[in-house]
Amino acid sequence: MKRTFCVALFAGLLVLGTFVTRSEAKPDTVKQILPGIWFREGDLTGKGHCNNIVIEMKDYLVVIDANFPSGAQMALADIKKLSSKPVRYVFDTHHHGDHAYGNPIWTKAGATTLAHQGVVEEMKRYEPKRWQGASKERKDVGDLKLATAEPPKQTFGEKPFVLDDGTRRIEFHHFGWAHTRGDGFAWLPKEGVLCTGDAATNGAYNFTGDGNVANWPKVMEKAAALKPKHVLPGHGEAGGIEIVNGERAFMLALHSAVSAEVKKGKKLADLVTLKNGAPAATAVKLPETVKNWVGNPFPTQVKDTFEEITAGKPHGDLPH
Ligand SMILES: [Zn+2]
Repeated sequence: MKRTFCVALFAGLLVLGTFVTRSEAKPDTVKQILPGIWFREGDLTGKGHCNNIVIEMKDYLVVIDANFPSGAQMALADIKKLSSKPVRYVFDTHHHGDHAYGNPIWTKAGATTLAHQGVVEEMKRYEPKRWQGASKERKDVGDLKLATAEPPKQTFGEKPFVLDDGTRRIEFHHFGWAHTRGDGFAWLPKEGVLCTGDAATNGAYNFTGDGNVANWPKVMEKAAALKPKHVLPGHGEAGGIEIVNGERAFMLALHSAVSAEVKKGKKLADLVTLKNGAPAATAVKLPETVKNWVGNPFPTQVKDTFEEITAGKPHGDLPH
């Protein structure tokens, strides 16, 4: 009996092994990147959560991204196991629910939520509509019983916001509009650690609806110029500069492939097949070199890029 179980388990591991070759995703686990810097991989598929990064300063902790409320609670529980220091700052890399709707949880826990001013502007543009939609769809958002999203309490503009207590320095930068108008990056120059939010993801997780596909590669160039040793994305596993370079290459390839079709006089219906009103398939193909970023959202990304190119302005500026 025991032996049969072992054989079955071994066979199971072999099967599992074939599924996890492309990715070693481990949702809801915490990994130390460097002493005092932890990467918590969020469960995107099951719970819609983003990744969180926890950075230890001399007297306090900084958390990257507020996550959804349930993600914030899970991150807080894990953080208590890492350190007894309080969370003083929580940085919203952008305004999306999976990165900012947990703000009230962190505020209640005594932290100051922080973001580029573009995050507040994006919330003014899209809220309370999205919050109210999420309140109906998600128990954790609905349970907060709030009328709208809580904007970050502290903001910065073109000049980076800096935390430096002599033991560690974190710079909060805005490099322009890629994923959203408020895209923020956390950069630790001494350790070469860059937290990118969803401006650079490790996998097929790009949402282009509020984005600026044409400008996205330029933002990635500024991020790559820092020469990060560790890139900690908003979704997908931690890695190195290849995440930023790959994201740049993907956006360049997407824009140029769709541009070529527009120049040939193709219509949206020639490029994207709809199913129940939503983009389900596309005739556009990208090179193998960017396949890490091509997945389920790809037909929607092609549609958004087509609309951006034909309207002559960023997709985020179009009514949606
Ligand atoms: Zn996200």
